[in-house]
Amino acid sequence: MSKKPPAPKKEEPPSAAPAAPAGEAAPAPAKKAEKGKRVKKHKEEKGVHAMYKIEGNKISRARPTCERCGPGYFMADHHDRYTCGHCGFTRYKQK
Ligand SMILES: [Zn+2]
Repeated sequence: MSKKPPAPKKEEPPSAAPAAPAGEAAPAPAKKAEKGKRVKKHKEEKGVHAMYKIEGNKISRARPTCERCGPGYFMADHHDRYTCGHCGFTRYKQK
């Protein structure tokens, strides 16, 4: 019997084991999340302060105010309209 099992020649890649720099201890293990501590995605809070922008000594409003309710009632900014959450007044954006 002269049947040889096929032995594909495999080139071994050079071992790329990163050599730890001398003098440095092993890398610190990944921090484990504390038990009972929930990771909460913090939603960007918005408040009235977000409606105002201060430029120097001037103040500017980021949203229009409601025409019915008067100043102080900001309208929600939708993609095509502004809506007052207080009275429901809607004003469509002009294109
Ligand atoms: Zn209103």
